[in-house]
Amino acid sequence: MPGKNLSRDEAQQRADVLSVDSYRIHLDVTSAVDPAAATFRSTTTVEFRSSAPGSATFLDLLAPTVRAVSLNGRALDPAAAFDGVRVTVDGLAERNVLVIEADCAYSRTGEGLHRFVDPADGETYLYTHFEPADARRVFATFEQPDLKAPYTFTVTAPAAWDVYSNGADESVETEGDGRIWHFATTRPISSYLTAVVAGPYHVVRDSYSRKLADGTTLEIPLAATCRKSLARYFDADEILTVTKQGLDYFHEEFDYPYPFGKYDQCFVPEYNIGAMENPGCVTFREEFVFRSKVTDAAYEGRANVILHEMAHMWFGDLVTMKWWDDLWLKESFADFMGSYAQVAATRYRSAWITFANRRKAWAYRQDQFPTTHPITADIRDLEDAKLNFDGITYAKGASVLKQLVAYVGRDAFFDGVRQYFKRHAFGNTVLGDLLGALEETSGRDLTAWAAAWLQTSGVNLLTPQVTVDAEGRITELAVLQDGGTPRPHRLAIGLYDRDTDGSLVRTHRVEIDVTGARTVVAELAGLPRPALVLLNDDDLTYCKIRFDDHSLETLRSSLGDITDPLARALTWSAVWNLTRDGVMPTRDYLSLVERFAGTESQIGVLQSLHQQARGALSLYAAPERRAEGGRLLAECALRELRAAAPGSDHQLAWARFLAHTATGTEHLQLVGGLLAGTARIDGLEVDQELRWELWLTLACAGQATEARLRAELAQDNTASGKQHLTHCLAAVPTAEAKAAAWSAVIDSDELPNALVEAQIAGFAQPDRRDLTAGYTARYFDVLETVWAQRSIEIAVKIVGGFFPRVQTDVQTLAAADTWLTAHPDAAPALRRLVLEGRDDLARALRAQACDQV
Ligand SMILES: [Zn+2]
Repeated sequence: MPGKNLSRDEAQQRADVLSVDSYRIHLDVTSAVDPAAATFRSTTTVEFRSSAPGSATFLDLLAPTVRAVSLNGRALDPAAAFDGVRVTVDGLAERNVLVIEADCAYSRTGEGLHRFVDPADGETYLYTHFEPADARRVFATFEQPDLKAPYTFTVTAPAAWDVYSNGADESVETEGDGRIWHFATTRPISSYLTAVVAGPYHVVRDSYSRKLADGTTLEIPLAATCRKSLARYFDADEILTVTKQGLDYFHEEFDYPYPFGKYDQCFVPEYNIGAMENPGCVTFREEFVFRSKVTDAAYEGRANVILHEMAHMWFGDLVTMKWWDDLWLKESFADFMGSYAQVAATRYRSAWITFANRRKAWAYRQDQFPTTHPITADIRDLEDAKLNFDGITYAKGASVLKQLVAYVGRDAFFDGVRQYFKRHAFGNTVLGDLLGALEETSGRDLTAWAAAWLQTSGVNLLTPQVTVDAEGRITELAVLQDGGTPRPHRLAIGLYDRDTDGSLVRTHRVEIDVTGARTVVAELAGLPRPALVLLNDDDLTYCKIRFDDHSLETLRSSLGDITDPLARALTWSAVWNLTRDGVMPTRDYLSLVERFAGTESQIGVLQSLHQQARGALSLYAAPERRAEGGRLLAECALRELRAAAPGSDHQLAWARFLAHTATGTEHLQLVGGLLAGTARIDGLEVDQELRWELWLTLACAGQATEARLRAELAQDNTASGKQHLTHCLAAVPTAEAKAAAWSAVIDSDELPNALVEAQIAGFAQPDRRDLTAGYTARYFDVLETVWAQRSIEIAVKIVGGFFPRVQTDVQTLAAADTWLTAHPDAAPALRRLVLEGRDDLARALRAQACDQV
């Protein structure tokens, strides 16, 4: 539906002639509890000015029906004004009052106003999600970030419900069977940041107060909400502790009082992303309410998201990018500040290790696709914008900012940021506005830095080149830079050697600037050759690293002996890149995991090793070596599970890894025994989430009947239970199960987003790729229809999720190429997804070839 796709040019033209004074939005959602009701009433009153009186403009609105349109008291014919995606009005005055009454649709895709019915108790819950451009599914709006305005929401809802929005509720009055909630008018904000959350949510309240520099006291009422049926799992204390630590920290650093009144954090069902920074009303995926035991990495991850969203109150909400090209202005900052604040202000002191190991892996992966882009991107329209919430915009941008702090100095950096907030409060900015502020406070010209890091794409590869003399002393150590345009890197190099107890410890560290293709590190000449040379030690820059042969030998025999957890994490990520790049045979990587993962102390690093090892086995192992690799991992999982401390996070992580790798009779019997209660591992609680993981193992192995799986659902009749059941049924290794999963997603659009994901995840299980091989041709046949007919969120899930990634053969690669050649004019965002899938396939084939030799 091309008309849905607002372009940058159109947005620019609108902003050139319009300014918006206010929106008043009334939503009546009393119909939500009736499953037969598909729509709710939405009334928008927008007051705006035009510098071109007499001209026409349009508002964005995706609604089944527009009932009435009036401009400055003049009724317009809705049939003429509304084309399904836009309301066009002409004869503008200098100052205008436009009223649009519409019936908008409840959503099941997580876009717009999502409606969810809790299977546990039958209660209905609503919440909105708008970024980048779905406010127009709920009310008529100028859907672009630079037409900010104050919003006043009123919401009519069932009497037993509570309603949350950006502003505080000022009054609630009873009307008929319902109640009308009046919310305080917001400060000027962008449409994608508005929010409404409504339903019988469980709420925990608290407050934060702080003495400001001018002697006044800032009070911020706090609330945390989740569905009633999750209330018993809701650890609001921990969430609010991190919240207060964050508020303290950001006030110290930003020197700009939190501008949006209260701060609600709502955990909502079937959420497509991690969280969204709606000012005063942040929404989170409710999987952050842990209903079974999780490792500390999950708590760390949640704290990171809480702080990321909070940083957005300033970066993104107070000061907002003009258009989606500069999405990085908010996302890179929030990603960077999330980890920065975590280390500075909370108990999660390993955040930079997690960042180096997990976040940067996301960036490196994305940055090597043919579709990569500079951090400051070229976003032509909303489809482009939707796909740009990626590893470049978040993690690469954050890495680059981390480096910028080192480059201009911490004080100059935060001084610049403070200037930027004060200067652009409630406004919109582009790259130059931020650079300008930082140049003023640091006294440095950042043009070259920005050109090298923000305006080019790709990741550099740094390789040490070491020569030694007959006595084993370094005669020269040089750093080679490869991979696209060379960039300036501030780089630490660590030399590691054996300690008296055999551990590998750093003996020397030098910090240098690498700029060209080859940089000689003079100060290391004459030193004895170390056991290990580690480039980018301390993770100062953004690059992939390699090892010299001698260091690689050390790692093969003793990777686990590196005592520093960050150095070890960097090493793990480098050997993962060697494997993905088809330089290290997959069997060697799996062998490293088998030997050294058991001693990995960082739980987050261990969990990413588990994930990467599974990926390596299913995609990068030579087909004839898969069975052997699978046995190796399963035996390792069992051994480490038995060795792990009872009740520890490590024990839980290894139990899950066993569930994911179990193959032979012995392992499957143990899985079955754990479920039946006939086998136990001391200290391991087989709670509900772990039970579903174990059921998935049996389902994939063809050892779980549908009746038995449904019996598990009867015991766990929850939203999460339904998703797990769907996942398990789609994973059953029969042609019928695969056909049913495919059909449920492709032949109907009735499924909610969460069940679309579950069907796809089950269908795509790699164990029995023979059962899905026949779907490759069908996949390429339906692509364009899916793209044209589904909402973008669901289309992205289908195109990305059903891509035949596990069919790692030349025929599938050829099928992807054929489609790409035949569809040069397909939507760029669709082509981007196919190009990325195609690149994954080509990479897998290279890695498999390396593993074959
Ligand atoms: Zn964000």
